[in-house]
Amino acid sequence: MDEPFIVDGVEIMYPGDPDAPGYLIWNCRCRTIAEVEGLSHSWDGRSTDALDGMTYEEWKQAHGKSQPITAQTEKGKAAKRAAVQEYRDAGKKDVQYAQQESGNLMPPSAYDGDFSDFEPLELTDEARKTMKELQKLGIDTGWEHGAILYPDGTISKPFSSELHGGVAFKADEIPMGSTLLHCHTNGTPLSAGDLKLLINQNISGIINITNNGDVFHADVNGYHPDDEEFEEFEADVRREIDKEMLERMRDEGWTYEEYVYMCIKEELFRICRQFEWTLRGGKL
Ligand SMILES: [Zn+2]
Repeated sequence: MDEPFIVDGVEIMYPGDPDAPGYLIWNCRCRTIAEVEGLSHSWDGRSTDALDGMTYEEWKQAHGKSQPITAQTEKGKAAKRAAVQEYRDAGKKDVQYAQQESGNLMPPSAYDGDFSDFEPLELTDEARKTMKELQKLGIDTGWEHGAILYPDGTISKPFSSELHGGVAFKADEIPMGSTLLHCHTNGTPLSAGDLKLLINQNISGIINITNNGDVFHADVNGYHPDDEEFEEFEADVRREIDKEMLERMRDEGWTYEEYVYMCIKEELFRICRQFEWTLRGGKL
């Protein structure tokens, strides 16, 4: 193993960074990681002990993938800063946790509970039971939890790696054809970070459940883009969406939560369509 496989890199930002794009602030924190010698499973990404005296930044420089923040317009940054400030003025700790406290993002009403754009959700009874368990763990702890649905239909025990309260799937424990299950401690659909897990040849799909019981399932149908292909497309999509959604936020009077929800949902749709991945969704 040469490098840990860390998807995204969002965990290095402090929660609620007002300069970060909405979809990063609100993104889920699931990752796949490879085993790293001396790196405990409960590594929180910041512990200098686990990193042999290095700061996380130094470690990341040496091992991690760089994760440039998408360039944004000044207007976009200002809109986000204002929205974040609003939360802070309202006495909330930070945006991310404010949203976790409420348990759900508020999608625009037209999209609330609307899965008409998705293929119907198909889950085995056992997967359904596990998703419920993950949802409950997420609600109880405020942390994300995950499990692996193995190709033979069996499911691992739910776990959290405590990676900033997120879940890390260990790349070397994922057999070919596995599906990753996890909870989002909010109302967001599968994030771009989630979808990026699907470049891993062993992963056939990823599913998340939100606090309010919405389930989103992306299935790769056998096509795994490489890292470069995925990132190139995703960067384009992010740029487009940031612009489009900010305009709609202004024109349609969306709240910041609605804006973020739509950024994530649009990104999910566009990425899945690009790679012809099947997208299923519905209430559990
Ligand atoms: Zn996720």
